[in-house]
Amino acid sequence: MSQLPLLEIEKAECGTSDRHLVSVVIPPLENPFLYSYDPAAHPSLSVGSLVTVQFGKRTVAAFVLSVDSPAEFTAREEMAQRGVKIRPIIRTDSPCHAFAQEHLEFYQWIARYHAEPLSKILDLAVPAPAPRKPEPFFRALPAQPNARLGASQRAVIDALGGGSEWVPLASLRSACSASASTLRSLVSRGFIEERLGSDSPQVAPPDPASLSLRDSLTQQQRAAVDAAARHIDERSFAPFLLHGVTGSGKTEVYLELIVAALKQGRSALVVVPEIALTPQLIDRFEARLKQRVALLHSSLKQKDRWGHWEALLAGEVRVAIGARSGIFAPMRDLGLIVIDEEHDASFKQGEGIRYNARDLALVRAKLSSCPIILGSATPSLETFHNARCERYSYLRLSERFHSPPPPRFTLVDLNRTKPWEMPSRSISPQLLQGLTETLAAGEQAFILYNRRGFASYLQCSACEQVVGCPQCSVTLTYHRKNNSLLCHFCGFSTPPPVACSGCGAHDKPQPSENGHESIFSHRGAGTERVAEELAELLPQACIAKLDRDSVRSLEDYVRILSQVRSREVDILVGTQMIAKGHDLPDVTFVGVVDCDVGLHVPDFRAAERSFQLLTQASGRAGRRGGQGRIVLQTRVPSHPSLQQTIRDDYTAFADAELLLRESLEYPPFRRLLRIIIAAEDKGMAQQWAQRVASHTATACAGSSVHILGPAPAPLEKIRNHWRYHILCKAASAGALQAAMQRIKGMLPDNKSIRIIFDLDPQDML
Ligand code: ADP
Ligand code: ZN
Repeated sequence: MSQLPLLEIEKAECGTSDRHLVSVVIPPLENPFLYSYDPAAHPSLSVGSLVTVQFGKRTVAAFVLSVDSPAEFTAREEMAQRGVKIRPIIRTDSPCHAFAQEHLEFYQWIARYHAEPLSKILDLAVPAPAPRKPEPFFRALPAQPNARLGASQRAVIDALGGGSEWVPLASLRSACSASASTLRSLVSRGFIEERLGSDSPQVAPPDPASLSLRDSLTQQQRAAVDAAARHIDERSFAPFLLHGVTGSGKTEVYLELIVAALKQGRSALVVVPEIALTPQLIDRFEARLKQRVALLHSSLKQKDRWGHWEALLAGEVRVAIGARSGIFAPMRDLGLIVIDEEHDASFKQGEGIRYNARDLALVRAKLSSCPIILGSATPSLETFHNARCERYSYLRLSERFHSPPPPRFTLVDLNRTKPWEMPSRSISPQLLQGLTETLAAGEQAFILYNRRGFASYLQCSACEQVVGCPQCSVTLTYHRKNNSLLCHFCGFSTPPPVACSGCGAHDKPQPSENGHESIFSHRGAGTERVAEELAELLPQACIAKLDRDSVRSLEDYVRILSQVRSREVDILVGTQMIAKGHDLPDVTFVGVVDCDVGLHVPDFRAAERSFQLLTQASGRAGRRGGQGRIVLQTRVPSHPSLQQTIRDDYTAFADAELLLRESLEYPPFRRLLRIIIAAEDKGMAQQWAQRVASHTATACAGSSVHILGPAPAPLEKIRNHWRYHILCKAASAGALQAAMQRIKGMLPDNKSIRIIFDLDPQDML
């Protein structure tokens, strides 16, 4: 621990022996507190222990931060001088540990970096402890001759075998369908016996030496594995960018390296962006590694989440796959970190403590002295730049493993297609032809439209005003299913208006097909509309939708994807959700309805995001077997991002974009701190923005930090809050962190104003 925590003392009248001292953190309180303990009563007390203490008049749960360290004794001296006594801890809890010393160092690093108290980091990182329920075990009693047993009872006896071994209920259930009533009746008739054990018996993981390595790695895979494995063996930190297209065998490289880490007795952590992808991945990993793999994500039940956590902390499970928050997993002796699809924006937490799991992974790898692999087909420019500057080693997988010919692109210039030539509003003749041919060949297609709803927006035909959200400065999206306009930021919903609030024009009462003609025209499209148009054009095809309206839960997601896999679905229409790494071999055609959606967003990463999305989406076509086909519809066909996508030229894209970033002083050439000031009252938000800006100027005086703003945020109003932002640029994060710390110190507590510090922001809206 480089810096001693500030200790506060819980005053107590009843002092006992204070020769043994611990400091504990009591969330949500920020500062640690000092308590004494009796080593005989609390023999296993250590960093990360869960304990109960008396605090004021209450009994509260606490985490142990350090035990008998010099800091505690110094604090005790001080307290003695002030005549304050130290209270003893009441008890150690069950479950008894939440983390270990190696994890605390990581959590403390995060607290310092984001200038937040450790208790907040613990709150974020550590799941709520849930006591383990004792698991029932069964074993067969000596067989009784002539016993009459039903088929299901017989099955249980057979599954238990003749031996005297205790079999946990879970294993019994997987061997036969042992119902509770069958088991109860067997116990009561004396055929089997039951005991409760809290310690599930260790299913010993296989001897790592028995884990087979593929002998068929390609030369590039071999080179990648060898380069990183050396650092696992040597216990040294080393970052790698593994740049390989989808299907080039990155996951095989990860698996080889995980085996290498297991062989060294170390553990491995894999972090992926999309939690819904993990079931597939878990199966593949468990099958290859022949052991349990812990799964960590936020939609797990509390009990399951804690179960995985505890198993990792105890070292019973040595491989974990998680989403963003998986980066906090309590791995023991971590030997490898993999960040798959490292360019994905979802690694960044969008609220609360705005950490980036990818960036934290580098810190964690360094603290753990192990290699880290950042894998992607379209690396973020930050990562690519780091590889260029040789801060990361660059590993390339340049070919798809099953090496189909590269996909064939068609760029459709919508400006050159007359409206009457379009088979439907959003589908061009080329896109329709591609789909027809795909279906005729018995293959499947993905249609990407990165916007949900039916029509993106309604526009007044008289004054051209667009119907917007009264609470946020964004257009409302029209959803035909319930004939309503919906705000995708705050959830505001309203029926379509009959008059324009801008010019007062009304719907015309003249009879038309609906009885009246709307003054508003539908502009843009959406997944819902595209799916409807396709259903009309291709009535024989089975069309499904994948977006946040049709997918409410992990189950929905998995169900739709399994329908695609089992060929019940011919065409899947979806938002960016369909672009993520699904391995669906019969999808040979990808159509993008409107490539321009993401290009015109006021964010310096718009081109990068667009390139990544289109490239990832294209990667869905023709994963195995034949040549994939991709049709891209656009109104800006010469846009460099599109041209580089169809040439599959990541390097050209990165070169051009990096040049631009350098000239504009954006990441990766500068680090950014974005401060967002939001309030319900516009004047107040503005006033505070000015005030924070002047604090910022004071905090940065004499440093090289460059301050921009305050300015209204591109999304000026969200959920009824007016938003302003200030952007600070600096050559290194250190200067920004220091500034952030100082500014936070200058801010008074004010409930009606929200001030958000986003270090290394991903979202500029
Ligand atoms: P990525 O993670 O880059 O998308 P994968 O690791 O999933 O790629 O590999 C794509 C496909 O190729 C998978 O079906 C995988 O099993 C197969 N594959 C990759 N490398 C090898 C190899 N060396 N030997 C045999 N099959 C391989
Ligand atoms: Zn809104």
